[in-house]
Amino acid sequence: MRHDFPNLTVVDHPLLKHKLTHLRKVETNTESFRRLVRELSQMLAYEVTRAENVMIRTPLTEVAAPVISGKQQCIVSILRAGNGMLDGMLELLPAARVGHIGLYRDPATLEPVEYYFKVPDDIAERIVFVVDPMLATGNSAAAAISQLKKCGVSTMKLVCLLAAPEGVKAMLERHPDISVTVAALDERLDDHGYIVPGLGDAGDRIFGTR
Ligand code: URA
Repeated sequence: MRHDFPNLTVVDHPLLKHKLTHLRKVETNTESFRRLVRELSQMLAYEVTRAENVMIRTPLTEVAAPVISGKQQCIVSILRAGNGMLDGMLELLPAARVGHIGLYRDPATLEPVEYYFKVPDDIAERIVFVVDPMLATGNSAAAAISQLKKCGVSTMKLVCLLAAPEGVKAMLERHPDISVTVAALDERLDDHGYIVPGLGDAGDRIFGTR
């Protein structure tokens, strides 16, 4: 999809789009939904892990060959729906550390309030992938990223399944230095803050709570 957002990558791959279509369907059950989230997260992990060349020796010669950046990785899940993306990403990045950030929306101010924050002590030295399936208003993701910056994190990418233009705009206004990778950029937010056409409440569909 064409868009004017700097730092936004909408991954355009037929297999990913196919899985996303099934994920959106109202009739997709919890088991399938969870599996699709895991598979889509792996495809997004392919996209956000970029390689750099190092010199290696094959039995025949020396050659510059790509490896994933020497920086260690950390995946930070924004609770609770972000946890649905963890398994898939960890299958591809098994040595990555994991952090969790819990935020709820204050009903009076609508601002995110942090209720849980646990990340590795050495997170500032790591590449951080912040995962949250839905970039809706962008408030939670932006607040989580602000907290991670306070911990000294300098290399950070936000990875989501779906985004609304409103959320991308809000995120990139507050954090123009952060890259955002999504499987699709949807049309808009509705009056309740849901992404349209979207897929409903990601947390409820991953964990089967509704
Ligand atoms: N969170 C969700 O789970 N779904 C949306 O559409 C928006 C925010």
